[in-house]
Amino acid sequence: MSRLCAGPSCFNTDQSANQLRLCGKCKAAHYCSKECQRRHWPSHRLFCQKQGAQISMVLAECPSLHKTYSLWRKSMGAFLCTWICVQGLVLKFPHGYRTKFMVLSIIERKHDPSLPQTAFAFHDVSIHDMCRLQDLLRGDTDEVGSHMVESERLAKRHGHIGAALLVIQATSSLRTATLVRAVPVVLTLEDMAYEKEEHWEDMTKVIINEAIDWRRMRKWEAGLNVAVS
Ligand SMILES: [Zn+2]
Ligand SMILES: [Zn+2]
Repeated sequence: MSRLCAGPSCFNTDQSANQLRLCGKCKAAHYCSKECQRRHWPSHRLFCQKQGAQISMVLAECPSLHKTYSLWRKSMGAFLCTWICVQGLVLKFPHGYRTKFMVLSIIERKHDPSLPQTAFAFHDVSIHDMCRLQDLLRGDTDEVGSHMVESERLAKRHGHIGAALLVIQATSSLRTATLVRAVPVVLTLEDMAYEKEEHWEDMTKVIINEAIDWRRMRKWEAGLNVAVS
């Protein structure tokens, strides 16, 4: 499970709802319905304007970056995000995923447009204290903070473990523009059951660089677990 609808008290995700739609202005908030978007607007407006301005800047410098990133996330991101948060944050800091967040940096590369999952190469993955979030998001932390609190509350209410924060930095191949995206990830008991991988950083690199089909891999893993037990 990964992305949540940003609507107040809504717990629809990109798995339970057919498809979440992006806020057209900031391209950061996701909604399952117009109603959720409308109810979220009063608390979203300020962030949306700031984020919208950042996007306009990125679009001016590198028009294709946002589109490329969105397609990459769609084809690759959801399962990968949960996996690296479980492996990195929970493996290293079993009780500290609320005080730490993770940054995944990727760089655009030459690719076949029909294979959006190959659009980015791995650059770096790192773990930071929450107090560094402010530097990274340039002050736009209020909304991320409240979205995290909400994700956490709802995750618990639905019997899950909690929420972790992943920030994705996607840089254009020309290195003129970088998109920064905060992605709250819901940690479920099922996610935690996956085997911990000590070499998760290397694996993340391979998964991104080789554009490994994560959905198929998880199904394969699940099948394997059944076979072993
Ligand atoms: Zn919703
Ligand atoms: Zn918005």
